[in-house]
Amino acid sequence: MSLEKRGLIIVYTGDGKGKTTAALGLALRAVGAGLKVRMLQFIKGEWKPAELKAAKWLAPAFSMEQLGIGFVTYKPKRPYEAHLQAAQAAWAQAKVEIASGHQDLLILDEINNAFQLNLLSVREVVGALQGKPEALHVVLTGRGAPPEIIELADLVTEMKAIKHPYEKGIRAQYGIDF
Ligand code: ATP
Ligand code: MG
Repeated sequence: MSLEKRGLIIVYTGDGKGKTTAALGLALRAVGAGLKVRMLQFIKGEWKPAELKAAKWLAPAFSMEQLGIGFVTYKPKRPYEAHLQAAQAAWAQAKVEIASGHQDLLILDEINNAFQLNLLSVREVVGALQGKPEALHVVLTGRGAPPEIIELADLVTEMKAIKHPYEKGIRAQYGIDF
């Protein structure tokens, strides 16, 4: 087996649950392997998921930051322009992380949602990923990954919803859903 370091572009998309969870699982594994991991969240930010607390126990190998400001289309509390600004700022930071060479794994959580909501240019992100440092792994999560991102990726997994407790009226569980 070759031990050559090859940075992968990994996509977790689809309408089923598990995209952010998969990225966090990967982060745990990567930290165990001695890699430095950074996670930037593009949409979340209104409430604090439990992983934000757990992340502190994995510092400084793992760090995460919420740069979004919450729901964009579902009962939004802020105007579209505010989300646009937040997504652009998140992307600006992502570019800094890509260029810095300080991280081994960069997770862009829910960036696909940002594409879908026209908060971010797919072309610009594809261009930056094409020019990324060779060894850097990048994970992009979120529903509706655009074809250009799927084309560029080395690994694409679609989470397919078969059943979700939400359909039975079971509300989101702390520690499981957030
Ligand atoms: P998770 O963070 O649990 O891995 P995810 O990243 O795949 O989920 P998102 O689209 O980011 O999913 O949505 C986050 C929230 O939406 C979670 O609370 C999750 O349980 C819920 N959710 C995910 N899939 C579904 C679904 N098919 N029906 C209803 N709610 C869902
Ligand atoms: Mg998610």
